[in-house]
Amino acid sequence: MLTRTAMAAWLLLSALSGARAAAQSPCCDPWTDLGQSLAGAAGAPYLEATGSLADGTQVTLSLEEAAPSAPAWFVAGLTSLDAAFKGGVLVPALDVLVPLVTDAAGRLSLVGSWPLGLPTGTTLFTQCWVQDAGGPAGFAASNAQLGTTPPAPPAGQFPADWIYGGNCAGEPQLQVQPYDTNTWILRQSKCTNFEGPFVFLLFGQDKALLLDTGAGNIDIDGTVTAVIGEWLAAHGKSSIPLVVAHTHAHGDHVAGDPQFTGKPNTTVVGHSTQEVTDFFGFQDWPNDIVQFDLGGRVLDVVAIPGHQAAHIALYDHETALLLTGDTLYPGFLFISGAVSQGNFAKYQASIQRLVDFIADKPVAWVFGCHVEMKNTPGESYPYGTKNQPLEHDPQLTREHLLELNAAVQAMGSSPHVEVHDDFIIQPSG
Ligand SMILES: [Zn+2]
Ligand SMILES: [Zn+2]
Repeated sequence: MLTRTAMAAWLLLSALSGARAAAQSPCCDPWTDLGQSLAGAAGAPYLEATGSLADGTQVTLSLEEAAPSAPAWFVAGLTSLDAAFKGGVLVPALDVLVPLVTDAAGRLSLVGSWPLGLPTGTTLFTQCWVQDAGGPAGFAASNAQLGTTPPAPPAGQFPADWIYGGNCAGEPQLQVQPYDTNTWILRQSKCTNFEGPFVFLLFGQDKALLLDTGAGNIDIDGTVTAVIGEWLAAHGKSSIPLVVAHTHAHGDHVAGDPQFTGKPNTTVVGHSTQEVTDFFGFQDWPNDIVQFDLGGRVLDVVAIPGHQAAHIALYDHETALLLTGDTLYPGFLFISGAVSQGNFAKYQASIQRLVDFIADKPVAWVFGCHVEMKNTPGESYPYGTKNQPLEHDPQLTREHLLELNAAVQAMGSSPHVEVHDDFIIQPSG
């Protein structure tokens, strides 16, 4: 039987889910406070919920203002029950019940990981009940919080096969892959340089960003100019300023710079840490995280020195791509001067900074600049290989970054080579 209370709750939830459908975006708070608290001796406990509810992100439930040192139960359900209970309303269905005890200040918190692969719109109702002599039937209850899984990041396109140096008479100098309508991924042929780096071209409404210029020995300006022309035509524009920046300063990422230097409407960012800091506006390198706005498309810039002093990662809010350069990719994660120059400690701090940064953000892919692993777990091509028919896919995931972090933090101050299924930690010196 549908009671009036249940009907009211259903109408409320229908209204809320309608509102959410209209507002759905990776940017927005996925939590809705449904109220329904029940006061105890010192008023009503308050339950706060934080986290984006994207795949694998951190979720925190914090209870405050509850009775001190009291038995308490976190209740969570995929649906709502909205049943009269102990003088209040038990909002979640009883799918999960976690017994805990509040601390001396009447607080509790739970931290967990949102599961992977939940369909968009999957709901979680949570509420906390606390033993409290001041409540009408010996209990107080917090407000309920409703979390709704946001849409997954838009899917981009990868080619059926990346060029891998297997056909030097036939493969292009640069493979041009449109990932989506505003994002291109280019791969330099290993026939032109064994590094075979990946290069990224991102368009916003006001400017385009070329991230890296390849390892040299190719006409990258010609290819980039052609892609920009294609984008301009598709968007009815006549020109767009181009910023040429770099994941880091190693030669295989900056060799094409001279082709862009001095071109009209083009800014080439320098290679030193100072130049990178000044250009992006870091105030406290490497600790602060700054934004770079392409016009309706904001990139977060995270300093990640370790592999190289001026290394940055970019996080793109439009695609949820995390571009990690040579700091994380399916291959040899070189950290030279690991002990002698303190670079391993910098690398550890950088990986932790990246992990903390993405804790509440969706990540479609973690994408670096090279591939040296084979598609067999733990197997790699010798560094310098120019033909890699069995190479690993270039894209990695949030879980790989978490795996890397756990591994490098566990090494403490004793860095060593460590082979993982999809990457090899390769400190030296
Ligand atoms: Zn490098
Ligand atoms: Zn490189």
